[in-house]
Amino acid sequence: MLRVVLELEAFNLVNISFANNLQSIRAVRIIVICYTVAIEFTGQLQEYKREMTAATSSIEMITDLVGFDTTSRNSNLELIEFVKGYLEQFGIASELVFDDERRKANLFATIGATDRGGVALSGHTDVVPVDGQKWDTDPYEINRTDDRLFGRGTCDMKSFIAVCLAKVPQIVEKNLETPIHFAFSYDEEIGCVGVRTLLRELEQRPNKPRLCVIGEPTGMRVVRAHKGKISRRCTIHGLEAHSGLAHIGVNAVEAVAEIIAFLKGFARMFRDEGPFDYEFDPPYTTVHTGTVKGGTALNIVPKLCTFETEIRHLPNDDPDLIWNQLHEFIDNEILPEMQAVYPEASIVWEEISIIPALSTSDKKLIQMTQELSNTTGTGCVSFGTEGGLFEDIGIPSVVCGPGYIDQAHKPNEYIDISQIQKCEQFVDNLLDRLN
Ligand SMILES: [Zn+2]
Repeated sequence: MLRVVLELEAFNLVNISFANNLQSIRAVRIIVICYTVAIEFTGQLQEYKREMTAATSSIEMITDLVGFDTTSRNSNLELIEFVKGYLEQFGIASELVFDDERRKANLFATIGATDRGGVALSGHTDVVPVDGQKWDTDPYEINRTDDRLFGRGTCDMKSFIAVCLAKVPQIVEKNLETPIHFAFSYDEEIGCVGVRTLLRELEQRPNKPRLCVIGEPTGMRVVRAHKGKISRRCTIHGLEAHSGLAHIGVNAVEAVAEIIAFLKGFARMFRDEGPFDYEFDPPYTTVHTGTVKGGTALNIVPKLCTFETEIRHLPNDDPDLIWNQLHEFIDNEILPEMQAVYPEASIVWEEISIIPALSTSDKKLIQMTQELSNTTGTGCVSFGTEGGLFEDIGIPSVVCGPGYIDQAHKPNEYIDISQIQKCEQFVDNLLDRLN
C-alpha cells in the first residue's frame, strides 16, 4: 500500500514537473526520496537507486553553490565561508588567500597527509554575469528537468567543485598518505586573476601539489593543451579641433583605426599562412579587437579613443613577435605623424590580462587522468584556464571536468546529470588509486 501511495505521489510530481517543463530542486528531492523508498519496497532497480543517491549529494551541493551569486564583480566570501564551514565538519582546515581589499578569497585545503604534495583538484568559484541574458528560470536557483540541472555556474564550473565537496566523507575515510588538495579560486572569469596570489603562496612550499586537474568543462575528456591569451587596452590621446580645421587637430579615432587594421593584417596572416596545429579549433593564433570607444560629435576632431584587443596564441607561437612589430609600426608610422601636429600626442598600452598557454607534456599525468575518466586520447581547447599558471610554478596540469563549454556563459546554462555521475566516478577512481 505504501509503495502504491509513494509511487502515485512521485508520479504526480513528475507530471507537475512535465507540465512546467522545469521543476524546482525541492520537488526533485521529494521525487528522489519517494523513488528510493518505493524501490526499497519493490526490491527492484537497485542500480538506479544507487546512482540517484550518489548524484543526489552532489546535486544538493551544486544547489547550495549556485545559490551564491558569485559573479566576478561580487565578493565570493559567503561561498568560501560556506565551503570552509563544510570542510571543518570533517576536521579539514582551509587556508584562505585574500585579495588586497579582502573582498574575495581563494581557498586551499589538504585532505590526508600534510607533509607532502598530492593531487590538486582545482576550480574557480566565480561565474560570468547574467546581465542582458534572457533566462527562463532564476539563474541562482537550480531547476531540473529529468536529466539536466539549469543554473548559472552549473557547467562552468560549480558542479566540479560540488562533486569534490560531496566526496569529502569518502576521501577522509581513506586516510590518504598521498593527499588530495582543493584549490578553489576567485576572479578566473576576468583573466585568471585570483589564483595567482594562491600560486605565489604555494610556489615556495616543498609540499606543494605534485599535479593538478583543472575541472573546467571538457565533457570529462582529458585536455592537455589550450591557447594562451594576452589582452591589452590602448588609449590614444590626440588634439581636439573643429572638423572644418581637421589639419590642426590630431584625430585619435583615425589613429586607432590604423592600428586595428594593422592587427587585422596579423589575423589574416595567421588564418591563411599559419602556423597551424589542427588539434585546436581554429588551428591558428587569432587576433581580435573587441571594443572601441571614441569621439563625441561628427564635427569635432576626436582627442581621445580607446580600444581593447586580444591575441589567443598557439602554445608554440610567441605573441611578443606581434607586439614588437606593432610597436615598430606605431613608432615609425603613427606617432611621428601625430606628434608633428601635437607633440604631446600619445599612445598608452595597459595590460588587461595574460593567461599562459597550457601544453602538458607529462605523459604519466595524461595517462592517469585518461584512466580515471575512462577515456582515450587527448584534446586541445580554445578557451583559457588556470592550468598554464599551475604549470608555470612547476605543477603539471591537465583540464578535465564535467559539462561542455558550449553550455557555459549562456542563458539557461546547464549540466547533464550523466556528466555529474561521470565526474563522481572520476573521483572514486582517483580514491581507488591513491593510498
Ligand atoms: Zn570556467
